[in-house]
Amino acid sequence: MKNSENLKIIEKIESVHTASEEELARLLKSITDEEAEILRKKAQKTALEHFGNRVYIRGLIEISSICKNDCYYCGIRRSNKNAVRYRLTEEQILSCCEKGHKLGFRTFVLQGGEDAFFTDEVMCGIIKSIKQAYPDCAVTLSLGERGTESYERLFDAGADRYLLRHETADGEHYKKLHPPDMSLENRKKCLFELKRIGYQTGAGFMVGSPFQTYETLARDLLFIAELKPQMCGIGPFISHRDTIFKDEKSGEVRLCLILLSVIRLMLPDVLLPATTALGTADGKGREKGILHGANVVMPNLSPIEHRADYSLYDNKICTGDEAAECIKCLSNRMKSVGYRIVTDRGDYRES
Ligand code: SAH
Repeated sequence: MKNSENLKIIEKIESVHTASEEELARLLKSITDEEAEILRKKAQKTALEHFGNRVYIRGLIEISSICKNDCYYCGIRRSNKNAVRYRLTEEQILSCCEKGHKLGFRTFVLQGGEDAFFTDEVMCGIIKSIKQAYPDCAVTLSLGERGTESYERLFDAGADRYLLRHETADGEHYKKLHPPDMSLENRKKCLFELKRIGYQTGAGFMVGSPFQTYETLARDLLFIAELKPQMCGIGPFISHRDTIFKDEKSGEVRLCLILLSVIRLMLPDVLLPATTALGTADGKGREKGILHGANVVMPNLSPIEHRADYSLYDNKICTGDEAAECIKCLSNRMKSVGYRIVTDRGDYRES
């Protein structure tokens, strides 16, 4: 009886793209390996129907390890005195793009801490330079919370997409992961504003973050169903040695894969990355992610001398590889599971 209940929930998500909070929490809590395999097959089939065996690549450029925020889980949080701080110059960013463009990247993701140096003026200049040099490329920003006017200016300068994980859709849980000057309310407000402005918008959350429950995860899924982001980034929480969560256990890869599949069924055409954190938690994490419904990978294009300093969590992979090696390695990994990396922009397309 118990089994058929979960299968019913899976079928419901597949057909109406949502379920109740109780159903989602129950499914995540009690799904068996056999049921998870049924879910995986449905998610993979859905991704294949929408994207074929194509995997989009995004070149990740980590522009700054300086951050004014103090998120308890993050290695580059303000109060971590051991963090090595750097910021890239416009020239360095453009040279990452140049390298990336030659390697076939048509999306550049500029990610960083909330670094006051990158004012609207500075960012607009950088975005315009990238767009001018590479008009065939999309620019994605992942620079945290800014005001509506700021998001509008960056959009007008040419930014196409914005990644801002909501981290957790449960207000109480959010407070346990962030200092009092941050709020879920503002995070959500930013996300709705980004969408309204016209960005292809990405939300997302960590799997297995401290104090997370199946109920908070169910809320994350319902928030995703409500916001309907064009992109959704999820990966396991991995502790960082210089944070207060240093002794917390990392998120489970199995649960992360199950969530990728559920998200694929909820939002069949969403752009869903198999994240670096997933690849860090499991040597075959990114391949498994693709087989569970993901369709994006984000190789690192940051200058090699700064890679290790953008340290959000311990033991991050790919800190020593040149961009060219990274892409070759990922391309082979994707081939090994029957997929191929493609070099178009990979914009969101509603089906
Ligand atoms: N400052 C930007 C970029 C944050 S880094 C912003 O606020 O959006 C990108 C993501 O890394 C975060 O949204 C978070 O979900 C994830 N992250 C941070 N610390 C992590 C950790 N210890 N384990 C796994 N993921 C982490």
